[in-house]
Amino acid sequence: MFQYLTKITAFSFLLCLFTVNCFTQIKILHCGYLIDGKNKKIEKEVSVIIEGTKIQSVEKGYVEPKDDQTTVIDLKNQYVLPGFIDMHVHIEHEYNKLSYTERFTLNEADKAFNAVGNAEKTLMAGFTTIRDLGGTGVNTALGKTIKKGTIIGPRIYSVGKALAITGGHADPTNGYGKHLLCHMPGPEAGVCDGIDECMKAVRQQVKNGADWIKITATAGVLSVAKDGDGPQFTEEEIKAIVQTGKDRGVRVAAHAHGVEGMQRAIRAGVATIEHGSYMDEETMQLMKQYDTFYVPTITAGRAVGDSAKIEGYYPDIITPKALAIGPAIQGTFGKAYKNGVNIAFGTDAGVFPHGKNALEFEYMVEAGMPAMEAIISATSVNAMVLDASDEIGAIEAGLFADIVACDENPVDNIKTLQNIVFVMKNGVVYKGGSK
Ligand SMILES: [Zn+2]
Repeated sequence: MFQYLTKITAFSFLLCLFTVNCFTQIKILHCGYLIDGKNKKIEKEVSVIIEGTKIQSVEKGYVEPKDDQTTVIDLKNQYVLPGFIDMHVHIEHEYNKLSYTERFTLNEADKAFNAVGNAEKTLMAGFTTIRDLGGTGVNTALGKTIKKGTIIGPRIYSVGKALAITGGHADPTNGYGKHLLCHMPGPEAGVCDGIDECMKAVRQQVKNGADWIKITATAGVLSVAKDGDGPQFTEEEIKAIVQTGKDRGVRVAAHAHGVEGMQRAIRAGVATIEHGSYMDEETMQLMKQYDTFYVPTITAGRAVGDSAKIEGYYPDIITPKALAIGPAIQGTFGKAYKNGVNIAFGTDAGVFPHGKNALEFEYMVEAGMPAMEAIISATSVNAMVLDASDEIGAIEAGLFADIVACDENPVDNIKTLQNIVFVMKNGVVYKGGSK
């Protein structure tokens, strides 16, 4: 009999382990002020009940724990918000004066170790999700490892390697002496010309584990090339990329500074336009017509403009582009916002130091977007663009418990978002949270 009981106990213990229910920990956040990421109203004295990785309920008043297993986290003096989502990050890299020689000296392993630190900084700044818009594949691998819980960082939607035409903005061999190349990079390496190669390049990235596809629809600032904003892919090539992506369940983000490349990308059906530096009224109308989202990256634009003023910071071919294009973004963003273009918060972190992503909020507000709208853009709007509204982007029952807090009212002082004092992701506390 005893033996039989022991077996039953062992069996139910195992069952418990697999169903997790008996070990699911309850946490109650007592929030002085709550911004839920969807409504513009700030609620006072709210409790967020978290069970395991998810939000179980959001209740008025300070709910007391029913047992001593439940943890209560006191955020009664804080403003509590959903974890932020940054739609444009390069987690593997951080620009510095030596970046152009690092292309020759860093191995993927070096990039991977650097990326670990960058990921932690990003999470600690309150960014619980990022879309990584271009690296070597380390970005995708890092996302998988973070998901397993081995490394601390935000959840990552990765494009793997960005796609470019030969000599385009994301051709990794721009500026190299021909004698240094064993062969020219092809679709496997993300460089593609013509419809067939473009289709192959998309399929290759999906095979490598990409969640999104990124194209460089125009020239860019930081590549070793003279042109900074001219069109690169043809409209037919972009259409082939979008359609192939659709077949494989991934959507397309397009880097674009100049109007011609931007318009081709919008008409071809990309989901987001990155930077959009020289976007004019006609292109703004097109954005609205096609329901395309604008990811401004004002912070990167300003940082690049500032760095270009330091002599020798960038190679000579880059400096004039950085001085002209970078600082244009903030003004364009202000006009696009007023024009009613859909805005998806994104920074291009990596072009400036990781962990400073929240500067973008300040610059958006400076350009005329109300603070609450900037917050909603970085939370529920971005979740919608990522097709993940049922998982992230708001503080509501059933979503992952990705929650952050700051000390001041961000509507009165947007800079407070640059000083996040509490970070929870998937129900786990990574920063702050006195009991
Ligand atoms: Zn970028």
